[in-house]
Formats: sequence, structure tokens, C-alpha cells
Amino acid sequence: MEMNSTQVEAIVKQVLSQLSGSAPAAASSAGSKEIPKTAHVAMLTALETVEVKEYPMPEVGDDDILVRVEGCGICGTDAHEYKRDPFGLIPVALGHEGTGEIVKMGKNVKKDSAGKDVKLGDKIVTCMIFKDNPDITMFDLNKQNVGGADVYGLLPDDDVHLNGWFADYILIRKGSTFFNVSDLDLDSRILIEPCAVLIHAVERAKSTGILKFNSRVVVQGCGPIGLICIAILRTMGIMNIIAVDGNAGRLEFAKRLGASDSVNFNDYNGVEAMAEGVNEKFGGHLADFAFQCTGSPAGHSNIYKFIRNGGGLCELGFFINGGDATINPHFDICSKEITTVGSWVYTLRDYATTFDFLKSAKAIGLPISELISDRYPLSQINEAYKKNLAMTGLKIAVFPD
Ligand SMILES: [Zn+2]
Repeated sequence: MEMNSTQVEAIVKQVLSQLSGSAPAAASSAGSKEIPKTAHVAMLTALETVEVKEYPMPEVGDDDILVRVEGCGICGTDAHEYKRDPFGLIPVALGHEGTGEIVKMGKNVKKDSAGKDVKLGDKIVTCMIFKDNPDITMFDLNKQNVGGADVYGLLPDDDVHLNGWFADYILIRKGSTFFNVSDLDLDSRILIEPCAVLIHAVERAKSTGILKFNSRVVVQGCGPIGLICIAILRTMGIMNIIAVDGNAGRLEFAKRLGASDSVNFNDYNGVEAMAEGVNEKFGGHLADFAFQCTGSPAGHSNIYKFIRNGGGLCELGFFINGGDATINPHFDICSKEITTVGSWVYTLRDYATTFDFLKSAKAIGLPISELISDRYPLSQINEAYKKNLAMTGLKIAVFPD
């Protein structure tokens, strides 16, 4: 049977909307929705206080892109800002794990940071902002991590105000890197940013030469970071993965995302017993490689006990200063000859790898969308933050009303 491209597109859209479990898109063409006169932005105006403010829709310059926001995840960084404002940004429009549809763009905007064409109606995500090097592409930037650059959602307020993804519109300006991700469903697009953190960590782990196809791997900590780590390892073809956590529900989900077994630390009396548990579950072996995904100093101290002589470790759990950890250099590092790498955020190139990971993970049936445990409308963003701070969900996401 022959089908024309419109029919194919209609079928693909229908299948994608069923897969993602979200409502079918109301309109895919930008022209069918009028751009309103004002935009709504969730401004953090004081500690633990977000007010949804209304601003005039800004002018779109020749190098700018106006995006209608479709959704944005809450990051640990957002929760820290909400609670304590460690970056001193208040008033600030937060939200950097966002995605949306191009509704207007300047005449100079032709391609994304991977060289892919962009047009009205395309779905995009943003990555870093390089004001001093606006023509940068992912191909220039193998090593430059986001740590030194700006991102939307962590910018000081200005007279445009549409600087964060917790809003119904955002204005992307010259010097920003962005990607056309129209071929990913909404849930996948919301998960791109946290997944890029783990793609980067796995690349760091691979640089040791120890992480291999048939490695035995321990992932300690089953919050979103550890769970995504497991899904990436599984998608790479690694089969022997033990998830370590104290929450039985999260350990069950870890198995559905690709862990072959789990160790609940509440079932063991002390770290030596836990290491014995790992050893048993790997059939008489310790781990070749371990990922430390908790922000707990005790987690860092313990992880060495799970790793075999000559094994490797990637530490990525400390996005903020969580205090000092105690180790025994003789037993934990020297005599075992452990190779350790640290990992910090991501590069532009990791973003491109992340898009492929998300497609592969879905293709092998991993329930990636279920990482988004809670969904809130923008008008209830304070409740969304409280849910995040209570740490009873996984990824919390906010959607324009
Ligand atoms: Zn983040």
C-alpha cells in the first residue's frame, strides 16, 4: 500500500501521542495559534515565593527565537534557588529543563547548533549561551562544559523578563545554543537536560578504559540521576547492573529501567555486609565499575568497598557542596588501584548523544517517561517546588496552564 507523506505523518503523530501518554497535540503549525499580547513568567521574587507575572510579548530581533513553552522539569538547582538563592539571582525566572515550539523567529535564524534546519513549528531545547562566541556549534566544543557558561533559567532578570522556561513563552537570543528536537516526544524533550548529565558521566567513565560491554556495574543512588544512569548503561548493552538504594519502590523501578539486580541497604548491617551482598549477586565478584549518584558523603565513603581490585569509579553525586567524606587511601584506592573520574554537567556534544539515547531507550522498551512522576500547571508552581523539596517524587515537571 502506498501512503503519502501527510498520511504517514498523521500515523506517526498518533503513535507518538499514544506512546508518550500525553494528550495529542492540539496544533502543530505555528500559524494556527495566535501569539498573545502578553506572556506569563513564574518569577521567584523572594525565598520560597514564586509569582506568575504578566509581561508584554517582546520584539523578536533578527537573531531571536520566540518559543511557546510546552513543559519544563524542576532541577535540584531550581529547588536550591527556591529555598536559599545560593546564586543571589532573585528576582529570577527559573527553569532550564524546558522545551517548546518556535512561534516566531528572526530572519538570521536558519540552523540549530548541530547544523540542522529550523522552521516555524519546530520543537527545540536550549543548551549553553556564549555571548562572546555567538556562532559556536557543537562541533567546536568537545571539552567545554556548561559550568562556565550561562543557561536560560539561571540568568539575571532584565527588561525582556522571558529568560526562564517556567513560563508560557521564552525569548531565545543571539549567542544561545539550541537544538531542533522535533523528532522527540514531549516527555523525552523534558528529560534531555538531566539525561545529558549522565551521558557526560558515562563518557567520563569510558575514558578510564575499564567500563566495557560485559562489565559488572554498581549504580549507587536511585534518584533521577542514578535511574537515568542505569537506563543509559542498559541502552549501551551493559547487562550486569546492580542498583543500590534504601527505597524499595525506586529499586523496583531501577529494575524496569535495566538493572539486573538490586541491593537495599536497609537489608544489610553495615557496608561490609552490603559489599558481600554485591559480591553474591554478581556471582562471586565485586563491581568492575561503580557510579556514585548520591549527594551523601557516606555514599562516597562506602562506594569503594563495592569495587574490585583494578576497577573504576565515577563520582557525580555532588552538584553542591555536601561536606567532606572519609576514605582510607590505603585500602580504598592504593592497594586496589582504583581509577577514579569526576563528572560535571555536560558539553554541547553530549546533548546530541542524548537525543540518540532517548530514541534507543524507547526503542528497547525502557519506561523513560515514567521518570516524570508529577505534573503541575504553571499556576501551581509553588506546590511543584514543595513536592520537589519533599523528595517523594522523581522528576517533577511544570506545564503552562
Ligand atoms: Zn538541571
